[in-house]
Amino acid sequence: MRILVVEDEKDLADALARGLGRQGYAVDVAYDGDEALRVAEINEYDLLVLDLNLPKVDGMEVCRRVRSTGSSIGILMLTARTALGDRVEGLDQGADDYLVKPFHFPELLARVRAILRREGEQRQLILKVGDLVLDPNAHRVSVGDTLVSLTAKEFGILEYLMHNAGCVVSQEDLLEHVWSENANLFTQSIKVHINNLRKKLDAAGGEGLIATIKGKGYMIG
Ligand code: CA
Repeated sequence: MRILVVEDEKDLADALARGLGRQGYAVDVAYDGDEALRVAEINEYDLLVLDLNLPKVDGMEVCRRVRSTGSSIGILMLTARTALGDRVEGLDQGADDYLVKPFHFPELLARVRAILRREGEQRQLILKVGDLVLDPNAHRVSVGDTLVSLTAKEFGILEYLMHNAGCVVSQEDLLEHVWSENANLFTQSIKVHINNLRKKLDAAGGEGLIATIKGKGYMIG
């Protein structure tokens, strides 16, 4: 899952990016509304964490413009304002939820998860494909009774494949949804991560779970 954090307070933006990154999300940061609109157009994000008070183009306007393109991307608004009007307007402009500053990181994380869950009806709290189970909340993967220890990237790849179980996921899809903008975009590195992921799943008794669809990508389930 790929997230764009839009926040002009650099310390907060960077802390959020680090925290979300540790949870296995691919995170990019935009420090003003203009930049947010620019990168949101280029990259395919699953969620925006959007501050309301931003230079150049404010958060409300960013939200309005993103929604006007027909995008159903999840939007979590951050606001220092406590006025009811702003919150109502934010939701009217298409934000999925809002969080009033200051907030605790676990609360932001819970809301991010809730929005991502709501986004696709097929998305469930816990992902299951046969004996393979991935719990995004506990950040835990198991095959039958065997726990599988994965790196953040491996977890991100597996989560994306399981969200799209039964569908072919191309390397480009994985780059879009699992890697952030400043990552080294070598498809070779996807192969390495997939190989490592397969080895770990194999060792846990989940042989052949990830299929390679020649010339197209990967598929699970
Ligand atoms: Ca701000």
